[in-house]
Amino acid sequence: MHTPSHKLDPDGDVLLTLHNPAAPFAVWVNRTLLPPPPPHSDSQHVSAKTDDDGSLSAKKPDVRFLLSSKHLSLASDYFKRMFRSPWKESSADLSTGYHHVDAKDWDPDALLILMQILHCQNAAVPTSVDLEMLAKLAVLVDYYRCHDATTIWVKTWIPNVKDSVPSVKSCFPNKCGRNLILWILIARVFDLQDISRTVFEVACKYCPCPLPTLDLPIVSVAEKVNSIRLHTLEGIFDILDWFLASYLNGTAGCSMECSAMLLGWLTKRMDGPKILPDERECPYLGHSTASVIEAIKGFGSPRWYHNDDELEHPCKLFYGQTELGTWIALRGLDLESLINDPNRRTR
Ligand SMILES: [Zn+2]
Repeated sequence: MHTPSHKLDPDGDVLLTLHNPAAPFAVWVNRTLLPPPPPHSDSQHVSAKTDDDGSLSAKKPDVRFLLSSKHLSLASDYFKRMFRSPWKESSADLSTGYHHVDAKDWDPDALLILMQILHCQNAAVPTSVDLEMLAKLAVLVDYYRCHDATTIWVKTWIPNVKDSVPSVKSCFPNKCGRNLILWILIARVFDLQDISRTVFEVACKYCPCPLPTLDLPIVSVAEKVNSIRLHTLEGIFDILDWFLASYLNGTAGCSMECSAMLLGWLTKRMDGPKILPDERECPYLGHSTASVIEAIKGFGSPRWYHNDDELEHPCKLFYGQTELGTWIALRGLDLESLINDPNRRTR
């Protein structure tokens, strides 16, 4: 039998074997133009099989941990259930005396830190970790369901990495990066409500595509973000289309010339960001709610004069509303309330 790489309990009765350690984690590619990833359940762990450049990873040797079933059962619902179940892991192998447990793809350093915590080896646990390691730990904590045991350590680690929480300023108007995804994961798993609200708001406003989950257990959050993004974008497009139709059929504008001027102006303005009805297609890749609203704020109105006087024609696009916010509110499209309502059903 192979000697364990890490003996968290020298008299341990559990031999955990980590296969394919350090598999690529939360692989980020430019997903703006890619379709949304297939759905997975929140707690399902699906590992990436390729490196960032798409090449196959070389197989790495297994890493073994000698552990205590008592410690694991006390701290982790996953292990408690495992050792009570009729599965083979619940009974010791008569030839070795160990319960054999398999894991795969995890980062071995992250798994070691988690096992040090679960085995109360506090002196060995690092007092600071980077964002990458914190995200890897969040996946492990979610998978092995040992949130309580890690709470005190999360409070220690968060201040050192909090500067990397994506902000409104860093993401405006349509930037959705890997850090945002990692922080959505971390905030959800460790129940960090302030950060959770910030990153959720950033994702709803500034993500220019369906939120990539990177195979992380954030599917329900991503579904809600995507629902709010689509609902908001479609509501805005409905309003713009209503104005196009109204100028076209003459129900808006004070005269034929006025309607024609405003119709032409709005058409050219919507053509700029490619949001005319025949230029856009769900899920509106490349458009965030913020980028569309920002574009509309810059639409302005045509300035023109009648020949028989020198007065500028008074009619303005959107009836003089300089911002579309009023129209959005009139149509019941309040992005803030959508973001703030935790009970809103996803599509
Ligand atoms: Zn007019």
